[in-house]
Amino acid sequence: MVGVLASACLLAALVAGCGGRGTGAGDGRIPVVTTTGMVADLVRNVGGERVAVTALMGPGVDPHLFKASEGDIARLQQARIIFYNGLHLEGRMGDILVKMAREKPTVAVAERIAPERLLVTEDGVEDPHIWFDVSLWMEAVEVVRDHLTELDLDGRAVYAQNAQAYRAELEELHTYAREQLATIPAERRVLVTAHDAFGYFGRAYDVEVMGLQGVSTAAEYGLADLQRLVDVLVARGIKAVFVESSVPRSSIEALVEGAAARGHTVTIGGELFSDALGPEGTPEGTYVGMVRHNVDTIVAALR
Ligand SMILES: [Zn+2]
Repeated sequence: MVGVLASACLLAALVAGCGGRGTGAGDGRIPVVTTTGMVADLVRNVGGERVAVTALMGPGVDPHLFKASEGDIARLQQARIIFYNGLHLEGRMGDILVKMAREKPTVAVAERIAPERLLVTEDGVEDPHIWFDVSLWMEAVEVVRDHLTELDLDGRAVYAQNAQAYRAELEELHTYAREQLATIPAERRVLVTAHDAFGYFGRAYDVEVMGLQGVSTAAEYGLADLQRLVDVLVARGIKAVFVESSVPRSSIEALVEGAAARGHTVTIGGELFSDALGPEGTPEGTYVGMVRHNVDTIVAALR
């Protein structure tokens, strides 16, 4: 009987790790858990076949409001390394991330961005939406490379090569975004969205950005915020505003109605992916595809 149990455990160990640290994937790949899809995509690009990545936040999920479920906590516990965005993007996961950091590498991909490159709001809050400036996201590539290497030295060459190739792809993407957005006449290069996710985007690509809510969706917007933006839409003749996949459309629809009441027609220029990737298997399900989609949507509506 003991022999049967022991061999059952041996078999289980081969499949999923029995009593030892679970591999999650069960195939020798390193189980990695991330918060957002953008971070997951980054780790997949750098880790390649050596990692099995699970993102806790799927398409359409707002990271500012996300709370880890019991299932999520179980997944975090099974990971060998955790990557998250940081800068309080995951505002309601602070406690669990602190707890995880006592047990295993728990890494903010934003950890190495120089303070002088961070945007800070009037209230002194650091803007967490660093993925909107592709050149900032390129720094996150190196953070992932170095932490994976530290955990898995055998993969050093693979991580270095993958990181270099991905950085080159991002360099191209950065150039694409800059060139495309520059084709919108400067006076019309104004991006109005539901929340202030696009600050880095605006700085990197010379686009004026305005959001109805602040850098987090956790704060409600008021009538005064709405009125202030409607005034700008009317005064500058801005013809399109944009909805975000992870924020309810109602706030943007209120802007369209507000402008219409003042005799100014504003259309919804399309849906942008701000704080979450698109569905898996679609072009917008990757970071590069998401940025391209956003750039192309903005250019088509404003040019
Ligand atoms: Zn956001």
